[in-house]
Amino acid sequence: MRLLVVEDNNDLAQLLVKGLEAVGFAADVVATAGEARAAVATTRYAAVVLDLGLPDGDGLAVLREVRERKDATPVLVLTARGGVHDRVAGLRSGADDYLAKPFAFEELVARLQALLRRPGDLLGQLLRVGNVAFDTEARQAFVDDQPQFFSAREVAVLEILMRRSGRVVSKKLVEDHLFGLSADVGSNAVEVYIHRLRKQLADAGGKVQIHTIRGVGYLIAEDRER
Ligand code: CA
Repeated sequence: MRLLVVEDNNDLAQLLVKGLEAVGFAADVVATAGEARAAVATTRYAAVVLDLGLPDGDGLAVLREVRERKDATPVLVLTARGGVHDRVAGLRSGADDYLAKPFAFEELVARLQALLRRPGDLLGQLLRVGNVAFDTEARQAFVDDQPQFFSAREVAVLEILMRRSGRVVSKKLVEDHLFGLSADVGSNAVEVYIHRLRKQLADAGGKVQIHTIRGVGYLIAEDRER
């Protein structure tokens, strides 16, 4: 699988390419926003590892252009900017994941592999878990094809769980999606929305379970008992 690495620190870029090739990826490297634009316009990459601070501009601008073209190539943002506002800006611009420098190479590889396992395109896709479906374009949930109506925040939580169904989603990532909607998210806000989602999905006959993995996060999976 071919990856694009956008990184202007040459030492880090070479390290990334060597490491990625060692685990079976092919990787192209570019060092500027201009080169990144040209590369994604001409080559279909399995995923992009994107640094934000580039000599000729901001990586987020490149990311926004890619998404405006409805190009759903998975993008993992890699940056020294690790604050919550930067993560939110990254996710809002269409990043699929975010890793702050310094990072462990094993974590980068694990996250890339998770992104690449995700089926199909991101945009306008119908995600399914059991008899629950979520249209990522209309941002509409269904149980047995019947539309379900949730608050904007509940939809945000359900969406991130559905996009990563069968895998644990960290509480941090769920919170970041909520921060995208409002700055004042209380410490137990995620639990509150998870609780409401569980109840409404169960009341509607949804054959799914939202599991709490203590100290880690949440996981949505089909409930075969129901
Ligand atoms: Ca940089």
